[in-house]
Amino acid sequence: AAEWERFRDWSAGSGRHNVRAGEALPLGVTSSFQHWDPWPITITSARGAHLTDVDGNRLLDLSMGFGAMLVGHLNPVVVDAVKHALDEIGTLFVTPSSQATDMAERFKTRFGLDMLRFTNSGTESLMYAIRSARAFTGRKAIIKIEGGYHGGYDPLQVSVKPGLDEIGPADNPTPATPFDVEAGTVHVVAYNDLGQLERVLSAHGTQIACLVVEPVIENLAIVLPDEGYLAGVRRLCDDHGVVLIFDEVKTGLTAGHGGASRRLGVKPDLVTLAKSIGGGLPLAAFGGKRDVMEVVVDGRMAHFGTYNGNALCMAAAEAVDELCTHEALAAAEQVNLGALEAIDTVIDEYELPAHTVGVGLKGCVTWSTSPVRNYRDYKATDFGVAELSWLWGVNRGILTPPGLDEQWLVSLAHTTTDMDQLVGDVRELAKALR
Ligand code: PLP
Repeated sequence: AAEWERFRDWSAGSGRHNVRAGEALPLGVTSSFQHWDPWPITITSARGAHLTDVDGNRLLDLSMGFGAMLVGHLNPVVVDAVKHALDEIGTLFVTPSSQATDMAERFKTRFGLDMLRFTNSGTESLMYAIRSARAFTGRKAIIKIEGGYHGGYDPLQVSVKPGLDEIGPADNPTPATPFDVEAGTVHVVAYNDLGQLERVLSAHGTQIACLVVEPVIENLAIVLPDEGYLAGVRRLCDDHGVVLIFDEVKTGLTAGHGGASRRLGVKPDLVTLAKSIGGGLPLAAFGGKRDVMEVVVDGRMAHFGTYNGNALCMAAAEAVDELCTHEALAAAEQVNLGALEAIDTVIDEYELPAHTVGVGLKGCVTWSTSPVRNYRDYKATDFGVAELSWLWGVNRGILTPPGLDEQWLVSLAHTTTDMDQLVGDVRELAKALR
């Protein structure tokens, strides 16, 4: 209660803004993920690794646009590229541009894709990836992972972070009610459970078009794949002619130079990309193997979008691609590893019931001593301390993502000093909890 009082005190201007915003925007925000009680912080500007709010507070940003701001806020290379497009190129042509072709070629090389199309959001990419898989296989049903979030497309609204009272038995986590489930078009399986996937595929494989999975789950803090899990998923999808879709909206460049699939050495049939590839502009993509993407060529599926591949997004993406060299990403990963190790030391020293999880440029503290392998393990972690830890940080000028299901991002703009601030903050919290 004292921490919430402190929050209300320093963010009173954000509170007033939220009242005004609530008259025009439901909840006073433009995406429901931006809202939290009593009010979210209203930002006026951002630069590098920091945000300024309406009350004039300066915050260390560890949320970084849910990972979209990988190269940092107002990165000069991105700013110059976008300015150049505005001065010399234009914004939107709705006819082909060499910039879009250049960018597609860069992504082919980086992510190991045969073909791809640009979209404007992760949601759109998931929608078209699923449509492509349905057109390719002539099947309708999909499999998703229990608890997983993949944006706003209807079939993916099943089993999104459900309450423990809403989930089915552990050996058959497909909930009973949502329409898509009743229609037999969505099956739900637990992450890291190949046996369960095998059972669903044996029973329904001939109707299943695709499996959608985040290779590393980054919507339940961070849940890593067990050794051999993704290779097993790959094999089972091949056995049943099911299109494997890796949702790399959250992982992408934050997981490494060629995304999580390259880092982990398992190649999906299709991949969805967004957030980190666009330097903060609304750029996303879906792509993968030629035979699947050819559904767009031969007209089995049409893919549209007025703003797809527009000049501003292409300019920003090219700048991001230039900035995200192996060396630059490796350096940021080292900063992240240093922070994770230092926080592990604090956890050991104060015997906190917690552990850290990290991949690439992202990390989190999970409030449980046992490893989290799936949604049910995740739900068994201590959300009370997780919330206190988030609030503690934000009250002391560190904005890790609101909502406890996210993780921090070490962007190219973060320094060891920035991450030391987080480590120091965790230490102070540990002292207070003792
Ligand atoms: N897939 C995953 C894994 C996501 O985390 C998100 C958004 O957070 C999406 C898809 C949807 O992306 P967007 O918000 O760009 O529509």
